[in-house]
Order: sequence, then structure tokens, then C-alpha cells
Amino acid sequence: MLVMKFGGSSLASGEALIRVAGLARKQAHRRPIVVVSAIGQTTDILAHASELAIGGQVEEAQQRVAAIRDILEKTAGAVLVDASLLAGMLASSVDEMSQLLCDLSVATTHERHSVIDSLLSHGERMSSLVMTWLLQQQGSNAVHVDAREVLVTDDRFTEASPLYGPTNDRLRELVLPLCDAARIVVLGGFIGRTLDGRASTLGRGGSDLTASVVGAGVDAEEIQIWTDVDGVMTADPAMVPEAKRLPTLSFTEASELAYFGGRVLHPSTVGPAVEKNIPVRVLNSLKSDTEGTLIVAENQLPTLTVKSIVHKEGISVIDIRSTRMLMSHGFLAAIFKVFDRLETVVDVVSTSEISVSLTIDRAERLQELVAELRGIAEVSSTGGQAIVCLVGDAIRDSPGIAAAAFAALGTINVRMVSQGSSRTNLTLVVDEQDVHAAVTGLHRAFFDDVDPALFA
Ligand code: ASP
Ligand code: MG
Repeated sequence: MLVMKFGGSSLASGEALIRVAGLARKQAHRRPIVVVSAIGQTTDILAHASELAIGGQVEEAQQRVAAIRDILEKTAGAVLVDASLLAGMLASSVDEMSQLLCDLSVATTHERHSVIDSLLSHGERMSSLVMTWLLQQQGSNAVHVDAREVLVTDDRFTEASPLYGPTNDRLRELVLPLCDAARIVVLGGFIGRTLDGRASTLGRGGSDLTASVVGAGVDAEEIQIWTDVDGVMTADPAMVPEAKRLPTLSFTEASELAYFGGRVLHPSTVGPAVEKNIPVRVLNSLKSDTEGTLIVAENQLPTLTVKSIVHKEGISVIDIRSTRMLMSHGFLAAIFKVFDRLETVVDVVSTSEISVSLTIDRAERLQELVAELRGIAEVSSTGGQAIVCLVGDAIRDSPGIAAAAFAALGTINVRMVSQGSSRTNLTLVVDEQDVHAAVTGLHRAFFDDVDPALFA
């Protein structure tokens, strides 16, 4: 069995839908489970519509639903021969989405998130039906499975986590028998339900996680993540045109890289795959004959010390100073309690005798955080920062990486430095204005002299 996940941009036109159906059929003998994201920008538009509705602009929000109908008509409408299938689905989905937007405009803050998830779920519900119909139209015995019947999650709406026990039970009951009957199973990524049956989603980009949860649950031989880039690259090719495709990566490297800004994989994708030791392959749906990047347990390229330089902008740094308290026990705990209470994830931490600096990538609750932390210590914050992270398993055993990195950065001011306990990354925080120079300089230093055969 094989899991094949296709992202929204790989489904964004009639042509693209045909291409994806072809890729799935080509692997039919491996009994694929096809996991699809919402078509094109559907989720972005729905998320925007929900903000408009919450802000009371219900009419403007409804116009977004009309935009989604247009997208489906242009993409799916161009390839589905039986127009009545699409028309029927659109009629009921559009009705439901419109109603949900009205609900949202009057929902309490507490109710809001589960309504948002009901709304967002329409993207994947529609795309998965479209893909099933297209495969059936092409003569394959594809079957649609409603992902909400399978993916059971906790109730942290809009950022829910899978509950593995019940999800694996349902995979065994609902999906495995279909695979055994050699059907191509199609299901939507990203969406699920709580144990008590309310709609939930796994957070933006969460279809990757669906793919790996499903892959681990059915013991797939491989989890394929199909995107529109060649694989995982040595840097973001939009910033570094010379960036090269990495033929392989280890699970550890892939998680570090996804977490610190690699754009190809969702950070939680690797977890379920690691547990069952299932290879994850990142592939380009536009160039299906290229090999992509294979992610496995062991480091296959030990001579390449730094594998990739990733970056993440939009970071805020919070500096906390206290001459008296820092070294007293309980101080860090008190600080982290504030972050916990305000549900804010901390990415990078560095400390000195009298200060601790932390980065966060969501500024929404920055003011609240700072206000609460001021009750404990002196606090200041700076926005407009960027994380630049060198990732590679062999960094651990290679002296001189930090020296080489700092030499490459020249006069660029580095605000924070940190190396995780796994020592498979070196993380720097710089001003956003310097991120381009930092990434290109580091890429030059670590990749210009590498034997091109390693990337073959
Ligand atoms: N459609 C969802 C999103 O855009 C999930 C995904 O694409 O993975 O975030
Ligand atoms: Mg997406």
C-alpha cells in the first residue's frame, strides 16, 4: 500500500487534475490511498471569508463563496463529463457554506472555531469527491472515503491533533478492506472530527499530516508528498536560484527543516512516519520522472555536513531581563507558564546569566504576552526578525561549522544563536532586512564547493 498526497497547487486546473489522476492510476498496482488538499487557493479564500463574516461583513464573505464556486467550475467543470455530479455537489456545498458564514457572524468567540472548521472542511470535501469522480470516469474503480469518518481528532479546533487510537481503528475498519479489494481510495486531507462528531481541521497545511497518519495507520510501504517543486532543496530557490535538490534526507533533518521554515513539508508530517519507519518521498507532480527527495531514518549523505539553509520571516524576539531572579529556580517555569496560558509556541531560546531571549512566530498575542511577562521581569520585544537555520545531522560531529557560518555572515548582526540538543541544526536570528544576504552568503559558503555528484 502507498499513500499519495497531492497539494492544492497540484490540483489547480483541469489539466492538473487529469495529471494527478494519471499519477494515481499509474501506481494502481501498489494499492494507493490518494489524499488530496483543497483545490488551488480554496482554503485561503474560505479563511478570508470567515474573517469577513466574523467582522460582520457577511455579504462580502458570501462573495468569496461565489469565487470558490467559480474555481470549482473552472477546474473540475473542465474535466468531469457528467456535469450533474458537480452541479449537485456545488449546490449543496454553496448552501452550507453560506449558512455557516451567517452562523459565524453571530457566533460567540467560544463557538467560532468549530464553525470555522466546518466551513474550511468544504475545500477538501469537494476536492476529494472531484478526484474520485474523475478517476471513476477514467475507468478506475476508485472509491471515496469521507475523511471525517476516519480522522478522529482532539477538540483544539483549527489546530486539532489526531487521536491515533480511534483513527487507526477506523482506518482498519473503513479503509483497509477497500485497499484489500484493490480499490483506489480517495480521501480529503486536513479535515476530521472530534470524538463527539464536530468538524475539526489539523491546521493550515495539515494534509501532509493526514497523509502520514494514514500511511502509518495502514503500514504503507511509502508516503508520497506530491508538490510543485522538485523536492527538498538546499535553500528556498526563490531566494537562492542555485539551490539544489537533495536526493535524500534523514527524518531528523526533515523535521528540523520543516519546523524552521522549509516550505515543502508540514512540520508534523514526519512524526507518524518515524514511528513505523515508513519512507517519505517528496515529488514534483509536474515532473513525475524526477526522483524527488527520499526521507528515511538513516543519514544517507553523511559527507554533506549542512544539508539545507532554511529561513522563516515574521519572527518576534522577546527579551526578558532580571538581575535577581533568573538563576533562581522556578523563574523559567513562570515564564513558560505565560506562554502556555496564551497558547504561544516558542521556537528559539537562548539565555545568559541575567537574561533570556525567545522567539515566537505569531504576533497576535504579543502585546498580551509582554504585558503578562512584565509582571515577572523587565521585558522588551522586537518584531521584523527572521530565523535562519542550518540543518544537517553531521553538524553534530563537525567542528568549525559555527566559525564558517559567522565568517560567511560577515558584518550581518546576529541577534540570537542556538543549537538544539540534537545538535543537528545551528539556528541564528537576524533582522528581516538581512535575511536575503544571510541565506545567500551561507549557501555560497556551504554549497559552492560541494561535489555536484552528491546531488545527482
Ligand atoms: N487545504 C489546507 C490548507 O490550505 C490543507 C493543506 O493544503 O494541506 O491549509
Ligand atoms: Mg495547501
